[in-house]
Amino acid sequence: MSESYIFSKKYLNSLLSASSEEDLASQLAKKDTPLPPRVPGGTSMTEEAIAKRLQRTPLFGQEAEMLLDPQTLALKADYQKNIENFIGTVKVPVGLIGPLRVNGIHAQGDYYIPLATSESALVASYHRGSLLISEAGGCSCALLSEGVCRAPGFIFKTLADAGLFVKWCIDHFEHFKEAAHSTTNHGQLRNLKVNIDGNHVYLIFEYTTGDASGQNMVTFATEAVIQFILIHSPIKPVHHFIEANLSGDKKASTQSFHSVRGKKVTAEIRIPRPLIEKFLHTTPELMVQYWNISAVGGVLSGCIGTQGHYANGLAALYLACGQDVACVAESAIGVTRIELTDEDELYASVTLPNIMVGTVGGGTKLPSQQSCLKIMGLLGTGKARSFAEVCAALALAGELSIQGAICAHHFSRAHRRLAR
Ligand code: NAP
Repeated sequence: MSESYIFSKKYLNSLLSASSEEDLASQLAKKDTPLPPRVPGGTSMTEEAIAKRLQRTPLFGQEAEMLLDPQTLALKADYQKNIENFIGTVKVPVGLIGPLRVNGIHAQGDYYIPLATSESALVASYHRGSLLISEAGGCSCALLSEGVCRAPGFIFKTLADAGLFVKWCIDHFEHFKEAAHSTTNHGQLRNLKVNIDGNHVYLIFEYTTGDASGQNMVTFATEAVIQFILIHSPIKPVHHFIEANLSGDKKASTQSFHSVRGKKVTAEIRIPRPLIEKFLHTTPELMVQYWNISAVGGVLSGCIGTQGHYANGLAALYLACGQDVACVAESAIGVTRIELTDEDELYASVTLPNIMVGTVGGGTKLPSQQSCLKIMGLLGTGKARSFAEVCAALALAGELSIQGAICAHHFSRAHRRLAR
């Protein structure tokens, strides 16, 4: 977070040339002028409630309709459980790519994949990577592990109390399971990890969550366990918190990278040289050279893992399919590998340990998001593992395409052609 004094000096000089020190200080000071009216909050979706909220904006007439169009108005009840203070919907363009052939443990077949984005060239790039993978026979995919955790924190007076508390918790794991399972039919508490830090205790509850991505599920289940603890534990915490920031929720962390958060999936492909030349206009050798320098570049920059742009495809797919887009923070980490095989093919693999997706619950119930899941045949019960494998296959397509573009010096050309 530190800044060179040279840049700081330039920046301060430019600020002070435009405003006096006194003006800047007054700009940054607290203000006690009366606040404008609050946005009327809540989950009410009546036209009156929405109109009152829109009054807080400068929008009216056609401009307001950009958010609150007739179809959104007709379907507003469908959004009720997913939004507060509702004023409409934002329309993000959706592009369709594929087929992407996936030879997975769970996902089997040729997938057409909807991607929602406002970034030009993204869809074209993933489309190209998908066609390349499919022409090469498809990528192999394997879901390796799954689990979602909640990590409540407990504060005690002393380390001795913390230790006794942990011992009691370990002895009561079966009771914790009963409490957790009383809140959910599909969530399963499968493990408890403990971490003592002086008089602080972190309990890390690990669950499987069926076809839901599971953040709410694990929160409600853990809340029930905490209630059991507070009632029955002979050692009472001074304070307790439902989450003490050790679960990796919505942030990239080395802990989740080394274990799993959501679903851990690996995907690989071997691509014959002629297909690399045909689709990517480069050679396998140059792609290996590029992978070498970009992998080290990733390490030097402090990335967790090393990969090119998992976030692009995942964010677009999550947005289209009603996933919690903020989970791209943890999902978009992993390792991409490119090698040359003895059979004159390019070997490429991706491993993503934190794919946070569900095919039930959350935003998967929303109208256009359901349509997107239906395009892939991945809506509803029994589909989440396949969806996670498709996510990894998509990430592989994106890695191949961007690396090819950079090797062929087409990277900026594609953006210029498609974006300007
Ligand atoms: P959810 O919609 O809250 O829960 C999933 C629901 O689907 C449960 O009621 C579950 O019932 C039911 N269900 C039916 N069939 C299922 C199946 N085959 N597999 C699994 N569940 C099935 O969704 P969630 O995945 O738990 O939570 C995701 C949402 O939480 C996202 O919208 C995300 O933005 C939000 N979120 C919450 C927090 C938090 O801390 N609360 C944090 C981050 C994000 P049973 O429970 O009876 O099995």
